[in-house]
Amino acid sequence: MSTNAELFERAQKHIPGGVNSPVRAFRSVGGAPRFFVRGQGARATDVEGRQYLDYVGSWGPLILGHAHPEVIEAVRKAAADGLSFGAPVAAEIELAETLCRLAPSLDMVRLVSSGTEATMSAIRLARGHTGRDLLVKFEGCYHGHSDSLLVKAGSGLLTFGNPSSSGVPADTARHTLVLPYNDAAALEEAFARQGDDIAAIIVEPVAGNMNLIAPDPAFLAAARALTVRHGALLIFDEVMTGFRVALDSAQGLFGIVPDLSTFGKVIGGGMPLAAFGGRRDIMEKIAPLGPVYQAGTLSGNPVAVAAGLATLRLIEAPGFYERLSARAQQLCQGLTAAARRHGVDFCAQNIGGMFGLYFARACPDSFAAVMRCDTAAFGRFFHAMLEDGHYFAPSAFEAGFVSAAHSEADIKHTIAAAERYFAGRGLKTED
Ligand SMILES: *Cc1c(COP(=O)(O)O)cnc(C)c1O
Repeated sequence: MSTNAELFERAQKHIPGGVNSPVRAFRSVGGAPRFFVRGQGARATDVEGRQYLDYVGSWGPLILGHAHPEVIEAVRKAAADGLSFGAPVAAEIELAETLCRLAPSLDMVRLVSSGTEATMSAIRLARGHTGRDLLVKFEGCYHGHSDSLLVKAGSGLLTFGNPSSSGVPADTARHTLVLPYNDAAALEEAFARQGDDIAAIIVEPVAGNMNLIAPDPAFLAAARALTVRHGALLIFDEVMTGFRVALDSAQGLFGIVPDLSTFGKVIGGGMPLAAFGGRRDIMEKIAPLGPVYQAGTLSGNPVAVAAGLATLRLIEAPGFYERLSARAQQLCQGLTAAARRHGVDFCAQNIGGMFGLYFARACPDSFAAVMRCDTAAFGRFFHAMLEDGHYFAPSAFEAGFVSAAHSEADIKHTIAAAERYFAGRGLKTED
């Protein structure tokens, strides 16, 4: 049997950084990533046999926890009938119908395999539909790793202090206008200047890739009003927030109907599945109906669709989101109270089943404010909690997630561990 450190050593020989997605590498917190062998409910077990209460949930998809029996059974059944056809299957229709029924803005959807693909395709569609090139995004928002969206983005790019990627042509970046999140005035100014050249605004309706930043309702309302006035499209990137903050997603929660939206994470239930969709007249511009090309060999993959459908069926249970939110809130309030009792500058908040933890006196409401949080304090907290069996995202700039499998007792257990850490933090700050 190998240890985490041994596997990480071996992984780095043939996988850049030893990981297939950068934030997994623990670079900003240090140490070796945990190699997991199994997950069950709220818990995951690493190769050394250590068990963790998991607050990452595969970065969002696992809203039901690990290996939910109904999801696993659906996957097993679908897999036994064949992994892929490259031809339509009936379950794709059922998933499309379900998504359109649950998300207020969807008339039509197309299924793809990753959130990156969904946002990239939605942007191409917005540009094709409007005949304009300019795209507005917000600093610290992450929309996957396609060229036009890798400008001042969040998630791993923030973790590594590198908000833009090398390899993105300047000519592509030139078509992306980056504005501060939650700043309606900056948005109005940009539209006053260049509104008639803007194809679309793309926004995370709750920012979840620079830690969690709650949206100012006036900001989202301005994005909606300005795009309507100038003939641009509003794209909600709900890859993280979709079916995570509410059953009708952020668009339902905040009562704003975007023209296009993207989904991923939860809708695949842990399998590679994502979608983009929206207004019928726009969606009909996609091939084979229209001139905007988009395709995928494994799109609508029957095994992924089965996992997604099983997941969506379960989250429709009455009271599901009330319970999920209550757990996330219990965690945030409990951690905050524990920290305050010991004089630690700490704050936490949740929106539905996603949450943010901040080593700061108040919860940040902007990119600039989140950048002022104490990342060294987060790193020490992260490692102390990890040692004690609580797995949080290995970066101060990522949101966290609870699942329906987290019990009240699980959350209490985590709060108690944090309280012990906060109480003795003076002893641990020099490690
Ligand atoms: C995760 C995420 C993406 C990218 O999805 P992938 O499946 O990782 O390509 C895009 N947008 C948002 C808001 C995300 O959280």
